Amino acid sequence: MEEQLKINIHSIIPRSDINGPGSRMVVFFQGCGARCRDCFNPETQVFKMVSLYTAEEIFHKHLEEGMEGLTVSGGEPFLQAEELHQLLKTAKNDYGLTTVVYTGFTYDELSAIDGMEEIFDFVDVLIDGRYDRKHKEKTLLARGSTNQKFHFFTKRYNVDDFYMPGKVEVIIGQDGNVTETGFSKIA
Ligand code: SF4
Repeated sequence: MEEQLKINIHSIIPRSDINGPGSRMVVFFQGCGARCRDCFNPETQVFKMVSLYTAEEIFHKHLEEGMEGLTVSGGEPFLQAEELHQLLKTAKNDYGLTTVVYTGFTYDELSAIDGMEEIFDFVDVLIDGRYDRKHKEKTLLARGSTNQKFHFFTKRYNVDDFYMPGKVEVIIGQDGNVTETGFSKIA
């Protein structure tokens, strides 16, 4: 049996309707070195151990009925490449979920690294590139800035599935802080 790797996770949203098509579980990885100005999740940048879970533990504890897919964000998921691979593989093979991954690396940067194709095999959609506040998203697509590209590795989705007009969610953090996030209007 394959060794179950522990993933350093910042947080999990069991159900979200603004992080890709349909209702999705969202897993935020911990640790990112990109240091984009005005990063949406600055607390995920720090390289420290927050919560260690195996893929199986994540789905067992947090997967709700009726989820269409898994979205992975961060932090930088590809800095824990083997763990990401196992998470995506488990999502697809064991739970029949679609997969969307946000990364601060570009597709070209990732493609130059050995082993990435094996991860891409379990990704339906990759949204790539660092957040650039000068090109902030204004068309209500589920991405931070327009330099970030959608890469559709399968035929499951197209760009219309990432159009999020009027969708807003409120997240209550472990510290009690309330954050509103979403696509309520064109900025
Ligand atoms: S890549 Fe994402 S998590 Fe990393 S600094 Fe940029 S916006 Fe923040």
